[in-house]
Amino acid sequence: MSNRPPSVDALARSLADLDLPHALLVDAARTAIAAGDPASARGEAEALAAALLRPVINATGVLLHTNLGRAPRATHGTDDTHGTGPVRYSNLEFDLATGRRGSRQRHAASLLARAAGAEAALIVNNGAAAILLAVTALAAGREVIVSRGELVEIGGGFRVPDVLAASGARMIEVGTTNRTAVADYSAALTAETALVLKVHQSNYRIVGFTASATVAELSRLPPAGPDGPLIVADIGSGLLDATTPWLPGPPPAWIRDEPAARQTLSAGAALVTFSGDKLLGGPQAGIIAGRRDLVERCARHPLARALRPGGLVLDALQTTALAYLRRDLTALPFWSLATIPVSELRRRAQTLATNLARTEVTVADCASVPGGGSVPGMEIPSAGLVVAGDHTAALRAWWPPIVARAHDGATICDLRTVDAADDPVLGSALGAVTGT
Ligand SMILES: *Cc1c(COP(=O)(O)O)cnc(C)c1O
Repeated sequence: MSNRPPSVDALARSLADLDLPHALLVDAARTAIAAGDPASARGEAEALAAALLRPVINATGVLLHTNLGRAPRATHGTDDTHGTGPVRYSNLEFDLATGRRGSRQRHAASLLARAAGAEAALIVNNGAAAILLAVTALAAGREVIVSRGELVEIGGGFRVPDVLAASGARMIEVGTTNRTAVADYSAALTAETALVLKVHQSNYRIVGFTASATVAELSRLPPAGPDGPLIVADIGSGLLDATTPWLPGPPPAWIRDEPAARQTLSAGAALVTFSGDKLLGGPQAGIIAGRRDLVERCARHPLARALRPGGLVLDALQTTALAYLRRDLTALPFWSLATIPVSELRRRAQTLATNLARTEVTVADCASVPGGGSVPGMEIPSAGLVVAGDHTAALRAWWPPIVARAHDGATICDLRTVDAADDPVLGSALGAVTGT
C-alpha cells in the first residue's frame, strides 16, 4: 500500500480550487503522473491558468505596450473589472510564467484545440480568412483537388474557386456537380498535388442521384509526392464535437448532417477550418485546427498577421472555449437557446397570452431555424405567439426594438430566440401595438 500514485481523477479533484475546467485539471494530473511526479500537478495546472488571457496591471511605464495589448481598453460603466481597475491592459502577448514575449495564439486557440481534439489551432478573423490562409500557406504554386459539387458560394460573394485563385494554388476540379467518387480524386493525384480540399456545402443541398467521398475515404488515397495529399476540410459552421458533450441530453436531431471538427480530424483530415460565430456560438472569428506542424506553417505565413484577430475577439473566444470545456451551457447562448424544450416555450407563450388577454393573440407551435448559412433545411420545433395583423413595423419602432416575422397577415413572435428575461418587454410591446 506504499506510494501508489493517486488516480488521475482524484489528483484532478484535489486541484479544484484553481477554477479551471475539470478537463484541464485532468490534463495537468495526467502529465504529472506520466512524469512520475504527482506533486507537480499543481504547478502544471497553475501554468495552464497563467497562460489564459487575463487583465494585468501594467507598471512598466510603457503606455503602448505591445505584449500587454498595446492601447489600454476602458471598461468604465461595465461590470467587467476582474479585480483590476477600469483601465485594462492584458497578457495578450506576454508569458506571465517567464516574463517574456508570448503569443496571442496561446490562449483561446489552445483551449479550442483541446475541445476539438486537435494538436493545435490558429485563430483568424473569420471562416473565409481561415480557408484562405490554410490554402495559401500549404498549397500556393501547387495543386489543390476539389470536387465540382463543392465549388460553392458561401454568401457575400465568397466563392471557393475565387479563394483558390487568390491563394495562388492551381485548382483541379474533379467529378461532377452531383457525383464525385474517390477514384476521381485518385486519378487527379500528381507530384504537384499539395492538398485535397473538402468543402462543406453549408447553405444548400444536392438531393437525388448523388455521391461524394468522405474524409475517411480520402485519407486513404495513395501518397502523392513526399508530403501529400493532405486533406483539408472546410467544415464551415464550427460544430466542435458531434457527440455534443456540452449538452445535458443526446445530440439534437438538427445537427445530424453537420460535420464536426473532432470527428473530421479523427477521420483523417490534417486540418479543419471553421467559423467562430456559427454553430461554435462565439464571436466572429475563423479557426484552423489540426496537425501542429501545419498549423505552425499557417501561423508563420505573412498573411497570418494580416488576418489575425484583436484582443477583444480573443477574449470573447476564450470565454466560449472555457464554457465548452466546463460544459457550461449558460455561457453558450446559442446552444442554450437552441436546446430549450418546446414545452418550456409553450408555457412562456401561454403566460404572455394570458396576461395580454387579447382575442387577437394566440399561442402556436412554429419552427425555428439554425440560420447563418448553416444546417440548411433543418428546423427546430418551437412555440410562440401569433398576433392577428402585421405589427412588425410598430414592434421595430419599440424600445428596445423587437424584430418579428409577418406571415399571412399575422405577426409571429417565436420565443426560441427571445431570452426569458425579455418576455415582459415583449408583453408590454404587444399590449401597446394591439391596444385600441
Ligand atoms: C460560413 C462558411 C465559411 C465562411 O465563414 P465566415 O466566418 O462567414 O467567413 C466558409 N466555408 C463554409 C463551408 C462556411 O459554411
